[in-house]
Amino acid sequence: MKVCYPGSFDPITNGHLDIIERAARMFDEVIVLIMRNPRKNCTFSEEQRVAMIQKVIDAHGLINVSVKVGKGLTVNYAASLGCQGILRGIRAISDYEFELQQATANLSLNQNVETLLLIARPEYSFLSSSMVKEIAMNGGDVSGLLPDVLVAEITEGMKTL
Ligand code: ADP
Repeated sequence: MKVCYPGSFDPITNGHLDIIERAARMFDEVIVLIMRNPRKNCTFSEEQRVAMIQKVIDAHGLINVSVKVGKGLTVNYAASLGCQGILRGIRAISDYEFELQQATANLSLNQNVETLLLIARPEYSFLSSSMVKEIAMNGGDVSGLLPDVLVAEITEGMKTL
């Protein structure tokens, strides 16, 4: 089964990476899909986010994982890539409410694409891209929160903002 994991990944965190690694063990192919969202003001450019995710894929030897940028409706884009599943992560009930609404809408748009929800590992259940940025911007230690290969780059990047 081929699945995609859509999101902003601004930037990719260890919480995202954990979901990707678990999915890579379960599915034949996983596409990390950076969805262009005009309503979201991202800190890192699309090119930077693609490069970061590719670095993580290479460093972790994730041979059945790739990264792409998508636009428009996620479910349509996923179907156009030949994905039978859309993967999302759930950290708390607040995530669930949003994901339930999204999954229900997607199902009504396309019955051939299933939304698959993976529960966050407890140690990452508080972790979000915005929290990592907040910590980095204020000089806090983000190692353990970000993939090792990105710690230096993101720490530097946040200082210049
Ligand atoms: P979006 O803007 O679409 O929410 P994100 O990059 O914030 O994009 O998240 C992408 C997906 O990863 C979402 O389903 C989100 O719930 C999930 N996710 C984010 N952080 C974590 C985490 N720490 N553990 C598990 N899943 C997570």
